[in-house]
Amino acid sequence: MTAFHPDLEFIDSEDLKKLQLKRLRQTVDQASRAPHYKRLFEKSNITPGSITSLEDLKLLPLTTKADLRAGFPYEFISVPLDELVRVHVSSGTTGTPTAVYHTQSDLDHWTGLVARCLAMAGISKADVFQNMTGYGLFTGGLGLHYGAERLGCLVIPSSTGNTKRQISLMRQFKTSAIHAIPSYALKLLESIRAMGLDPKKDLHLEYMVLGAEPHTDETRLRLEEAYGAKAFNCYGLSELNGPAVAFECREQNGSHLWEDSYLLEVLDPDTLEPVPDGEVGELVLTTLARSAMPIIRYRTRDLAYVLPGDCPCGRRHRRISRIVGRSDDMFIIKGVNIYPMQVESALMKEPLVRGNYQIHLTHEDGMDVMTVKAEVSPEMDLDNQDACRNLTKSLVHALRSEILITPQVSLVKLGGIDTGPGKAIRMVDER
Ligand code: ADP
Ligand code: ZN
Repeated sequence: MTAFHPDLEFIDSEDLKKLQLKRLRQTVDQASRAPHYKRLFEKSNITPGSITSLEDLKLLPLTTKADLRAGFPYEFISVPLDELVRVHVSSGTTGTPTAVYHTQSDLDHWTGLVARCLAMAGISKADVFQNMTGYGLFTGGLGLHYGAERLGCLVIPSSTGNTKRQISLMRQFKTSAIHAIPSYALKLLESIRAMGLDPKKDLHLEYMVLGAEPHTDETRLRLEEAYGAKAFNCYGLSELNGPAVAFECREQNGSHLWEDSYLLEVLDPDTLEPVPDGEVGELVLTTLARSAMPIIRYRTRDLAYVLPGDCPCGRRHRRISRIVGRSDDMFIIKGVNIYPMQVESALMKEPLVRGNYQIHLTHEDGMDVMTVKAEVSPEMDLDNQDACRNLTKSLVHALRSEILITPQVSLVKLGGIDTGPGKAIRMVDER
């Protein structure tokens, strides 16, 4: 297995810290050219010289999505406008979009990070890489596209949708690696089966890169088993380039966050104090290698924890857990805090649950009601009341032990839940 950036991937912890400090100073210098940070730095007398150790990171201001919105379009740009070569706009799942600009060198750096991730998974120039994510403003399309090309793969830019076409491309070109959002990988699987094909025998898949959406280990295992391929979790967000901020190595025990390019803090979202390794907090990230738009201490709102200990693969870049939730997708019902991932985790343990799911919150007769809609396997006869009652009962039981309240469960035929065109809508709050 060859690493794409062996020197940076296997850098020892001390050298990594030195590199981070050097790059942090450069980042502060670069950021001070953007009107937003210039104002803040001047107010608190911050210069690159104020940063004498990595500990000094905490002297720097936090940046929020609201700051990025308020600074639209020019307040965060640190280079002359004619050096910008691309702008990506966040998909705006949770409100007004924000713009992130890149110079050519920013794009080259990001592309290198994507290639590094793919190589770490075992993907090589011999692979045929079908990129099933949106090629528009969404960073997953162009991000993975250029990264896979940089590695030397044969790239099929199939983009999203048109599932039958995706399947015939997979067969015609013997696609060995795909990039997809996990909800689409599930949908694709059902379409392959519905066409009478066996995903293991009739396809040639070896690698799946799954990202952009939270998903559980149960979902990953289910996809790996069905496709007979390994699935790697890819984490990122547009504000920090997009995919390839963190990625799983072949140990598949958490995702290495590339600490040569991003400084990682895990903070308690309320007190903003650091939380110890192993404890869930909000990921707060600082770009270390971006010139058009450095971002300092960005509050991602993504909740995860650092896995303690070293990874047997030898990379010392710390590993983060799966995203357990986004601070804005948690919902409270009957006084209990719940994340959609807890529901997914319980559902995916039941083999008869297939395809997609969605959580509906309603207010009926003065009470909050939570209904979990789950698509089920065609083997399940939805007209057989006894079978439905048994499955419902067992799902309610599994959900209750995960989320501590008793939800309603509604079984839906495969393909019967509309989770929207892009990232799956997991929660509909009608209260
Ligand atoms: P938006 O914030 O508008 O959805 P992005 O496309 O930049 O725009 O989405 C980034 C977000 O997607 C992350 O902050 C995170 O919540 C989610 N995300 C991305 N990759 C993963 C992943 N592998 N696991 C869980 N969540 C992810
Ligand atoms: Zn590793």
